[in-house]
Amino acid sequence: MTSTAHRTATPDQPWPPRPPALLPPWHTPARAQLQEQARRFAMDEVLPVANELDPQKGEIPQHLLERLGELGFFGITVPADDGGLGLGVFEYCMVSEELARAWMSVASILARSQGMGTAVADPDRRRELLRRSAGGSWIGAVALSEPEAGSDLANVQTRAVLDGDEWVVTGRKRWCGNAKAADFIQVLVRVADPAPGESRSRGLRNLLLVKERGEFPPGLSGHAIDKVGYHGFLTWDLTFDGVRIPAGDLIVAPGEGGSDGADSGAGFREAQAFLNTARVHTAARAVGLARAAVEDCTLYLQERAQFGHPIGDFQALRFTLAEMAAEVEQSRAFYRQVAHLLDEGLPCEREAAMVKLQATEMAVRVTNQAMQLHGGNGYTTERQVERHWRDARLTTIFEGTSEIQKRIISNAMLPRSPLG
Ligand SMILES: Cc1cc2nc3c(=O)[nH]c(=O)nc-3n(C[C@H](O)[C@H](O)[C@H](O)COP(=O)(O)OP(=O)(O)OC[C@H]3O[C@@H](n4cnc5c(N)ncnc54)[C@H](O)[C@@H]3O)c2cc1C
Repeated sequence: MTSTAHRTATPDQPWPPRPPALLPPWHTPARAQLQEQARRFAMDEVLPVANELDPQKGEIPQHLLERLGELGFFGITVPADDGGLGLGVFEYCMVSEELARAWMSVASILARSQGMGTAVADPDRRRELLRRSAGGSWIGAVALSEPEAGSDLANVQTRAVLDGDEWVVTGRKRWCGNAKAADFIQVLVRVADPAPGESRSRGLRNLLLVKERGEFPPGLSGHAIDKVGYHGFLTWDLTFDGVRIPAGDLIVAPGEGGSDGADSGAGFREAQAFLNTARVHTAARAVGLARAAVEDCTLYLQERAQFGHPIGDFQALRFTLAEMAAEVEQSRAFYRQVAHLLDEGLPCEREAAMVKLQATEMAVRVTNQAMQLHGGNGYTTERQVERHWRDARLTTIFEGTSEIQKRIISNAMLPRSPLG
């Protein structure tokens, strides 16, 4: 059998091909078209770049960012009136799965647009920023985590103090992806201390640090962290030493106008709302990675021969591939269900945590298994399976670890006793 005769199967294009009438009802013609467009872009344009640049720890090249802008992918969830595609979390995740199948980092850069960093109080400025976000000229970074505030985000220590009409920000942030290349950094800061007995999240706000791409503003410095994977953009350890931000550059929660920060855990709530979508998006990225592993294995099992047979003749390996494929389908159905809940505006913190937990743990298992099916070739940078494996390994850690997802889920299910 020649390699061109090899069978491959991608989601919604199963083998043998399924007639349109048998496709699931959510698979509308418009969604199918968007998915096909994303798939072609991912496989024809992103994958070759990823194969070349990821082993060199290279960054996503400018021409790919421009193509993402042309395709409208930076503004999938931005309203059409503001220059976006006007679609939902469902489509955002569907496109992200396709991109992650080629290179997770490209799916991740989409999360730094989609209207992020536009929730300012002034409606005219907000609309201008939304338009820029949709077009790819307002791509940001999110600085929530700190050396002592990872899972425990309420422990944020970075301070912002009002000095006249400016905030002065001092502290350290860790793990800030895309910080230097960004047009802005959304920074979670402490503007007030909680009174004794109050929630530690009180007094946290998100500030909008507007900056030039490729530069750090006065008072901000940092170094890139040397990561195991997730190349394509740099992840920074940042020091804020008296960084000045105009008082009005504050991210405002819906229905909230105040800027003195005296409230509330507004910043913490904003971060939580952001995290629900981020968790479903992470699940979709995990599905993309696991699917990549399944697709690579489907070819490799036909290509590689041992004992006079393609290794795909060995039942143990066939069954392993079957289990991997079933796990991917299950996680896809789940992330689409939760994306639908988000699009309907229904509360789904528990479900967002569940799908993040389930899909990312699945991706670790499936990519690990894919490496095994590739034998020694899997443990080289000559094959792509090692990239899927390295990137999948991160998905159970960022956007809240698996343990934190279990905490959210169990807290929603089970009250603690007074002893707990
Ligand atoms: C490559 C990368 C990119 C990132 N990008 C960003 C970014 O762009 N912006 C940003 O703000 N952050 C980012 N992060 C930070 C990420 O969200 C945190 O790493 C993550 O939330 C975990 O925090 P931590 O690393 O401090 O681990 P810790 O919180 O120190 O956790 C250590 C271990 O303890 C466990 N643990 C902690 N608390 C509990 C508990 N209550 N119960 C049970 N187990 C617990 C954890 O699950 C984990 O196993 C990134 C991280 C990485 C690695």
